Amino acid sequence: MSVEQQDLNLLANDNRGESQLEAGFDLLGWDEVTQGSVLPSFDGDATGIANKKAEERAYSGYNSYTATVASWRVVKPVFNIDVCIDCQNCWVWCPDSSILSRDKQMLGIDYDHCKGCEVCVEVCPTNPKSLLMFSEYEDIGDALASWPEKQKKEKK
Ligand code: SF4
Ligand code: SF4
Repeated sequence: MSVEQQDLNLLANDNRGESQLEAGFDLLGWDEVTQGSVLPSFDGDATGIANKKAEERAYSGYNSYTATVASWRVVKPVFNIDVCIDCQNCWVWCPDSSILSRDKQMLGIDYDHCKGCEVCVEVCPTNPKSLLMFSEYEDIGDALASWPEKQKKEKK
């Protein structure tokens, strides 16, 4: 798959990751918020929100969906759809809900929220793996071009 085909904003609405979540940006700590404060996760009427797809929801600025943690990463997972068998292991295990999947098809990675923990790579069962870690600065096209071949089992 070429990098042009890999849409890094898959299943995103307009405000996904629009603000930086970093220390020193006048953010209140969890213990500084006035008790009883209500921070609505969605703008407007949230009736039936559970039945809406992520990219159709009106996330408010208080929802972590609208913040990006991409700057926290030093390494990133790259997805190779040509090897993937859609087993959904990565989607189940990702601790940050950063695997984008729809109708049981793995589609890519939400790089606004992925923290580069490598769990998805660990649980990917294909040979070679369909997810591999690369430097944050690695070009995705170059990463895909350097994908390893299938490893043969050693004869005993
Ligand atoms: S590296 Fe970690 S946070 Fe990023 S997609 Fe994989 S499991 Fe999720
Ligand atoms: S764990 Fe690997 S094979 Fe399974 S869906 Fe994720 S990328 Fe595809």
